[in-house]
Amino acid sequence: MRGNPDAVIVGSGPNGLAAAVTLSAAGLKVLVIEGAPTIGGGCRTEELTLPGFWHDVCSAAHPLALASPFFRRFDLPARGVRFASAPVEFAQPLDGGRAAVVTRSVEETAARLGADRRAYRNLFGPPARHMDQILPELLAPLRRIPAHPLAMASYGSRAILPAATVVRNWRTPEARAVMAGAAAHAMMPLTAVPTAGIGIMLVSLAHAVGWPVAAGGSARITDAMAEAVTEAGGAIETGRWVRSLAELPPATATLLDVSPKALISLGGDRLPSRYGAALRRYRYGAGVCKVDFALSGPVPWTNEDCRKAGTLHVGGTFEQMAAAEAEVAAGKHPERPYVLVVQAGVADPSRAPAGRHTLWTYCHVPAGSDVDMTAAIEAQIERFAPGFRDLILARSVRTAADEEAHNPNYVGGDIAVGMQTVRQTIARPVARWNPYRTPIRGVYLCSSATPPLPGVHGRCGELAALSALRDVFGLREIPDIGPARLPVKSTSPLSRTRYLLSRYRREPLMDPVRTAPA
Ligand SMILES: Cc1cc2nc3c(=O)[nH]c(=O)nc-3n(C[C@H](O)[C@H](O)[C@H](O)COP(=O)(O)OP(=O)(O)OC[C@H]3O[C@@H](n4cnc5c(N)ncnc54)[C@H](O)[C@@H]3O)c2cc1C
Repeated sequence: MRGNPDAVIVGSGPNGLAAAVTLSAAGLKVLVIEGAPTIGGGCRTEELTLPGFWHDVCSAAHPLALASPFFRRFDLPARGVRFASAPVEFAQPLDGGRAAVVTRSVEETAARLGADRRAYRNLFGPPARHMDQILPELLAPLRRIPAHPLAMASYGSRAILPAATVVRNWRTPEARAVMAGAAAHAMMPLTAVPTAGIGIMLVSLAHAVGWPVAAGGSARITDAMAEAVTEAGGAIETGRWVRSLAELPPATATLLDVSPKALISLGGDRLPSRYGAALRRYRYGAGVCKVDFALSGPVPWTNEDCRKAGTLHVGGTFEQMAAAEAEVAAGKHPERPYVLVVQAGVADPSRAPAGRHTLWTYCHVPAGSDVDMTAAIEAQIERFAPGFRDLILARSVRTAADEEAHNPNYVGGDIAVGMQTVRQTIARPVARWNPYRTPIRGVYLCSSATPPLPGVHGRCGELAALSALRDVFGLREIPDIGPARLPVKSTSPLSRTRYLLSRYRREPLMDPVRTAPA
């Protein structure tokens, strides 16, 4: 890159890259600096076990990427990224060969739930039907009057509750297990608020868009983003950990895809003490221990439908999963943990040599744990899939402490970069009208420690970039981040100029937090 960049972005996770995509699309010269040897942060794919076995290092299931307004406008399919869905979106195996099974259809799913059929339909049907109205609100800071207040009120009235309260009158182990499996993604006890909100959002997304994997691996998503940045003239440097803002090349804006803990040390004396103290009060949650397997064949789940599922929540009944999560919150390592499993090969055979499979798993553990949970994870899978252990060709293990060592954003192994309490959902990481702006002029936080929430959706990065565009570059229009369909070379300079101008949307960007584009 010739000369100084207009904007420097520290970190190339999906949010750092979303910020880079947005700023590049506005015509700015962007430099992304990544500490790890490869780009992608929590959205990478590597041969973690054996050659030819491609494992998603972090994120694997992508309902949020598929539904995200940022990625819809970025247009992943036009950039060659394909999502692949399994016949069953997700399943929870139960003892005795039973299972709770969620497919794209609310009706089909509810039909298997006997006495809870109507309750299931009533809870998940409306948000699934109105996901296009609800999700833009959920994927923006909670600051404005929703564009669809009725749909939001109906979702919000239950979302604010603990998962345990929402299902207290449900009778079938299957229906209760669906809620437990989805709500436990919150990494909090199922008696805590707002675990129902996370559960309802995730189940409704399964019905509205599915829980696909990215064909070829999650890295395809971040690779497409990086390509858009470099095509627009931006540069990406890897293998350079930034320890202080003073190390960065001069730039008008700096966007940090880092944790609040890292912001404290990067900002040093430049951060006002009150803001620093508020960042220190930010609470991180439980960690994860992740185990990836190379298998000689598909997992032999006793229940046939589980063999067709992309994702599985393995932990038994609502009560068993709730007990495991409560133990983690109490600082213990459960003997029978709640295990998240993704069998990408069901939807995407390209992940392993013919006939072989990869298996992605993790369980929750106390923050900072260095305990290897492989034995407990294998025992839980073996419980519902006897013969599983015989298929294991190789394993790769990352304890919670290892997670943080690989990516400092995951403080104590907390992959959500902060507890998802009600307070930290509304005021993330601190209570400020614009949570992306830091008190240092031109410096923004753009990681998943800012609103809306963790996951691969790019909105934290996009909204931070829009804030920077308005504040320090004086640009009030939203750049078009869609793939460039440049006119053929023979087109006249005038029509090329017209085309480039047309890539800016006309509506003014008054305040990115209040008028976040959907
Ligand atoms: C095991 C695991 C499973 C997950 N599963 C899913 C899933 O299935 N679906 C889903 O949607 N989400 C999932 N997530 C969450 C998702 O990956 C994250 O929410 C998302 O990646 C956050 O994006 P980000 O850009 O904010 O941060 P990250 O993706 O964490 O990226 C931050 C980047 O910044 C770099 N960095 C940090 N500090 C510095 C520094 N000082 N100098 C230079 N570089 C720095 C890091 O190396 C990293 O590359 C999972 C995460 C993990 C770890």
